[in-house]
Amino acid sequence: MQSPSTPLRALPALPTVKPRLLRRLLLPMPIILLMLACGYAAYYLSEQAGIRALADNGERQLELHARAVESEISTHTYLPSLLELEASVSRLLVTPTDYRRERVNAYLEGLNQRSGSRAIYVLDTSGRVMATSNWRDADSFQGEDLSFRAYFRDAMRGQPGRFYGVGSTTGEAGYYLAHGLRHHGRIIGVAVVKIRLDPLEQRWERARLEAFVSDENGIIILSSDPTRRLKAVQPLSTETRARLASSLQYHWTRLDELQPQARQPFGSAELLTLPGSDPSDGAARPIRYLAQSRRLNDTAWTFNLLTPVQDVRREAISHGMLAAVAFALLAFLLIAWNERRKVLATRLAAREALEQANNQLERKIAERTADLRASNERLKAQIRERRQAEENLRKTQDDLVQAGKLAVIGQMSTSLAHELNQPLAALRTLSGNSVRFLARGNLATASSNLQTINELVDHMGRITASLRAFARRSDDTGAAQLGKAVDAALFLLRPRLERTPLTIHRAFTDARLAIDQTRLEQILVNLVVNAIDAMSAQSDRQLWLEGQAHDDCYQLSVRDNGPGIPPSLRVHLFEPFFTTKPGEQGLGLGLTLSASLAAAASGNLSVQHPAAGGTAFVLSLPLLAPSPVENPHDE
Ligand code: ADP
Repeated sequence: MQSPSTPLRALPALPTVKPRLLRRLLLPMPIILLMLACGYAAYYLSEQAGIRALADNGERQLELHARAVESEISTHTYLPSLLELEASVSRLLVTPTDYRRERVNAYLEGLNQRSGSRAIYVLDTSGRVMATSNWRDADSFQGEDLSFRAYFRDAMRGQPGRFYGVGSTTGEAGYYLAHGLRHHGRIIGVAVVKIRLDPLEQRWERARLEAFVSDENGIIILSSDPTRRLKAVQPLSTETRARLASSLQYHWTRLDELQPQARQPFGSAELLTLPGSDPSDGAARPIRYLAQSRRLNDTAWTFNLLTPVQDVRREAISHGMLAAVAFALLAFLLIAWNERRKVLATRLAAREALEQANNQLERKIAERTADLRASNERLKAQIRERRQAEENLRKTQDDLVQAGKLAVIGQMSTSLAHELNQPLAALRTLSGNSVRFLARGNLATASSNLQTINELVDHMGRITASLRAFARRSDDTGAAQLGKAVDAALFLLRPRLERTPLTIHRAFTDARLAIDQTRLEQILVNLVVNAIDAMSAQSDRQLWLEGQAHDDCYQLSVRDNGPGIPPSLRVHLFEPFFTTKPGEQGLGLGLTLSASLAAAASGNLSVQHPAAGGTAFVLSLPLLAPSPVENPHDE
């Protein structure tokens, strides 16, 4: 069965980006956003303020020019009613004759000239032109039927006829003011004054004003921009279009709509985006206007003022850009200042840390130096002490060696005296006998005595020579022949051995050892004397001298079958002046000296306590060269 895959799988290590780098990368984003926001805010505020200023100024312009339009119309309002006062007019209408027509024509011509209107004419109740100021012109209205005109019908109803329309004869636009002429309370005809409003448009153009007047149908009848003329400012229903077409008010004009591309209320005014009209600018390029309007008195017309806001917009854009740049500059300065502050802070912190570390280091160095100086002083003192101790030790060792020798000599002086007294007594006897044998002429006996005397003298000489050698201070260095040293030691101890006989087992190979000959003899004497002393109370006395070479070292064991050493005393064996021997028999220096002599020759002396009983001292010494001749002895 396969085990299910472990759910705890190590996630792949996410790529770690250093926070500082991340911050560096991300920092420009909010700054750019803030810069854009700041720029846009400045743009918006500047545009709003600019448009408000335009609106204030526009209000004044609006009032001024609306009043101008009103006054232009009102100056001619009274004219049609004025004809009621003219008797020739009413006479013509009541009883028309050619003469009367000519008179009225002349009158109207003169009146028209003085009033500055376009034309003045009189209609009879059927709507036919009875007399007209332009009777001389080729396109005179004379005899024309204008009963279809709304102003005629209004005037016939006794209401003031107000009408803007395009002339059916001339095709020329004009404003018609009509008045029903009464005679004895009855309307006998209609007086009409046609005025041209083009001068207003020219005035606007001269003042570089974009303005238009829309009539009750929402058709632009006056406009500073000719392309907008006779356009509808609001959508026209099909019925309205049909009605307007049949009235021929706007002649055969198509009445296109002037629809703003965008409109946005601004206080009491509006912001409109209209298609551009400047041909050099391209017809499609829209222009944004602040549109302000006002109803004109005595008419159903509206005066509209259009103020382009491009300049304000351009200014607002530059303000926005300026604000954005100023913000960017400020942000840059702030960032630079902050970076500098951080760098300074880092430097300051680093300097402080460095100073602190420096101080700490100096303090540590001072402490360590003091410690080192103190330990140096201590070491120097210790070295001095050691040297002193070494000196003392060496001196003590020398003294001890010497003392040991003297002690052994002292110890042995009794036996020596005995040893020397015996041969001396024999010498005296032999020499006396020899004199007597010589006197008797017994030369052979005398010669034999002298021979014996010689041997005795040699024997005594050997005793004194070995003593002298023993007592002499000698160097650590030297070479000793083991067999010779054993012989010499046993010879020295011969008197003791004769008094306390024992069996000596020689089981060692002769060897050349790196120690002074006399010192080796001294060590052996000490060890054998101790063995003899230990075994003195027993009858069966055995001594084994066993030795063999190990690499560059030689080990000689001096073992006895004595009582051994009690465990409590074993630790004190090599201490100076430790002895168990009664009276003046022991000085307690033998083992101490022997060990120190062995150590001085780079060897050592140790003790073993065999399980079978007795004691074994093992002397280890460096070998000088392999022993040339094997010399096993067994006695
Ligand atoms: P000394 O012979 O003057 O006493 P040593 O230093 O030579 O001084 O010996 C110290 C003691 O060690 C002796 O007094 C004795 O008790 C003990 N000792 C030394 N050798 C032997 C031995 N072979 N057997 C038993 N005891 C020993």
